[in-house]
Amino acid sequence: MSVRVRFAPSPTGDPHIGSIWTALMNWLFARAKGGVFLLRIEDTDQARLIPGSSEKIIEMLKWYGLNYDEGPFYQSKRLNLYQKYADILVEKGNAYYCFCSTERLAELRKAAEANKQPSKYDRHCLSLSAEEIQKRVGGGLARRSLGEGGEKFVVRLKIPEGKTSFIDLIRGKIEFENALIDDQVLLKSDGFPTYHLANVVDDYEMKISHVIRAEEWLSSTPKHIILYQAFGWKPPEFAHLPLILGADRSKLSKRHGATGALAFRNEGYLPEAMLNFLALLGWNSGTDQEIFSREELVKAFSLEAINKAGAIFNREKLDWVNGMYLRKLSIAEFAERAKPFLADAKAENVFIEKTLATVQERVKKLSELPALTHFYFKQPEYDGALLVWKKATLEITKDRLTKLSAFYSSSEFPLDEKALEEVTKAFITKEQFETGETLWPMRVALSGEKASPSPFQIAVVLGKEETIARLQIAISKLS
Ligand code: GLU
Repeated sequence: MSVRVRFAPSPTGDPHIGSIWTALMNWLFARAKGGVFLLRIEDTDQARLIPGSSEKIIEMLKWYGLNYDEGPFYQSKRLNLYQKYADILVEKGNAYYCFCSTERLAELRKAAEANKQPSKYDRHCLSLSAEEIQKRVGGGLARRSLGEGGEKFVVRLKIPEGKTSFIDLIRGKIEFENALIDDQVLLKSDGFPTYHLANVVDDYEMKISHVIRAEEWLSSTPKHIILYQAFGWKPPEFAHLPLILGADRSKLSKRHGATGALAFRNEGYLPEAMLNFLALLGWNSGTDQEIFSREELVKAFSLEAINKAGAIFNREKLDWVNGMYLRKLSIAEFAERAKPFLADAKAENVFIEKTLATVQERVKKLSELPALTHFYFKQPEYDGALLVWKKATLEITKDRLTKLSAFYSSSEFPLDEKALEEVTKAFITKEQFETGETLWPMRVALSGEKASPSPFQIAVVLGKEETIARLQIAISKLS
């Protein structure tokens, strides 16, 4: 069987991290099986549509590098198709017109609630005769158009008796009692299909072999199977992905930090690190390997190995994975990726690369870079009190900085971290200073920070002149 899978998001807002996870699972499956991955935008729910979301979905797939082979297909451009198929079901007796008003349906719901029963349509319109239907749509029925004075109607699926079961590739056999399933509306009174009809018709028309989607759709699957049976079509295979949970095992939400798929880009995660991390969510490769290239992921991926228990979104692990990828970049690549985050840093490329080399080993995400490197690009602002090491006094600090500055002015200043450290430490020993009382204020003078790269690392990037200038500013803060 040739594998064809689809990513079928609804454009109802900024795509969530769960959305890209679903897309990735489909993409990996398609690539692992040499199949087709297509994009279908499910935009038939006019009330929930948010302009610009389709573009965001496409932008997301592009940033994460999940290329699709077909599409995007927009359901809103295929309305005739769904209407045609709804009519076919009515003709077969597997669906029916329903003229019930919203008021009547609301009353049914209220009554069910009062009796603590699940709300279900009572099939009031199931037994209408052909003549009555003709009359109520306004006479002379051309199936989809209302005649003069016609009433609004929807088309409902007639759920048969019995049970509906299917094998979920992640969860095994799942069975539902049909008696609990409502006669689902397939076509709304405005002629738009509901999710269920459009989804099944398109999966059939697009020859989808495997439906891989979020757990929240599991309860819709029996309706879909019944629809396939009603049409006389063979259903695809189904796999429902587990929920993504926060570290506290509750459903991942804003409370746990950014959850928008593109927010991770803005926070400075690399797409390849995100893919690596997301692929391992809820999926066990069976080895200790944590870092996988895309090719390795495709090779190792198996749908069946996905856990049915919730997948924990562990941000510390994400930071760790991202750090690993950041460290693997050449300095030129690292600088290229960092650029958007250093928009305020006006400097030559060579200088930017030098500064970035001092933090590449430590950085977890690119958005940390401005805070970690700002002092390279402009003189830092800080309180003079920070210059005084915990075991020193203001006078000692001033003395050490003054002598250090004089030493640098009069001696050579090697532009190599190790060499600069050596000459500086030799000077400290000769003068019988404490290391901390000298190097602490030197580091603060250069960075203005409590924690930063070593003073030698910074000094080498800044150069002799700027280093001495900053030592002088520090000295002036100490009187
Ligand atoms: N449009 C649904 C969604 O937004 C698709 C569910 C499915 O894949 O069947 O997730």
